[in-house]
Amino acid sequence: MSKKLKFVALLEKERESLGAGVIGRYAPSPTGHLHRGNLFAALMAWLQCRLAGGQFFLRFEDLDRPRVRSNSLDSILQDLQWLGLNWDAAPGELEDSFISQSKRKFIYDAALAYLGDQQKIFSCRCSRKDIAFAVSAPHQRTQEGLIYPGTCRSLSKNESFKACVWRYRVPESDVVFTDEVSGIYRQSLARDVGDFVLRRADGVYAYQFVVVVDDILMGVTDVVRGADLLESTPRQIELFHSLGGGVPRFWHVPLLCDAHGVRLSKRNGTKSISSLREAGERAEVLVGQLAASVSLVAEGAVLSAQELLEEIGTLNHFRQKLQQAPGAINHL
Ligand code: GLU
Repeated sequence: MSKKLKFVALLEKERESLGAGVIGRYAPSPTGHLHRGNLFAALMAWLQCRLAGGQFFLRFEDLDRPRVRSNSLDSILQDLQWLGLNWDAAPGELEDSFISQSKRKFIYDAALAYLGDQQKIFSCRCSRKDIAFAVSAPHQRTQEGLIYPGTCRSLSKNESFKACVWRYRVPESDVVFTDEVSGIYRQSLARDVGDFVLRRADGVYAYQFVVVVDDILMGVTDVVRGADLLESTPRQIELFHSLGGGVPRFWHVPLLCDAHGVRLSKRNGTKSISSLREAGERAEVLVGQLAASVSLVAEGAVLSAQELLEEIGTLNHFRQKLQQAPGAINHL
């Protein structure tokens, strides 16, 4: 069986095994303890999925091994359980109730080969220095670095090197989609992003690629996550199309910030959920605070995740509240 057939076979198997209902997911990176900002995104993903009567899966994005912390996975599982965010057994996973990307390299290999057969990718041997040298205008920069100037785009195969980066050949046309929370979003991949990396020279697959392969094979219909990933979404939509998967609905939820408007993170000293838990904080208090930050309940409400679900009632009401919320929420 060729590698291409293998990915097509995986896709077909996924189509046979999944029903027509809503499938949601929470996909944390086990690089440390969760804080309120992370848990807010998890709560929103769980609420959207359960309000729609869907199945909710958990996936650990643990490919960046040097950043993975050994106790992080257990602590995340405990935090989710403590908050009452239950999840369903992940499809095709026999050992755990969740998916770990670190076990799925063979799937990403097959997906990359599938894109290779369609000439959608090319190998690149440019160093950061080469790219900086070739990029003349200083504005040719994204959040992740300089926009790739296309140096290796037209190299023939035998000119390429073994230990190389694999990049996606972005099309000229714009990607436009309607986010369930923030509305229409348009991006030119060619102008604003450039040919992005799918696999690094050390063989590690990039987030942008594996997230799409997994969302396709898990049958995800609704992606609910922090608004910081809004600008990654056009890249992912392009990959959904190239890999033959249905594009899910996207819900980019507000980011929780500190009093200075800086996004909560481990770096700015935000307390971990496990430390709140150990200090005797009640889950119902935290659920109330997180839900009140987007006006799903009144300030000071104390309730369980299940009670919150019942209180919100409908998916439309949930969507409306998120649409009315500001993009960044001051939350201490
Ligand atoms: N792993 C990402 C994070 O922890 C989330 C990715 C996603 O939801 O697409 O921020």
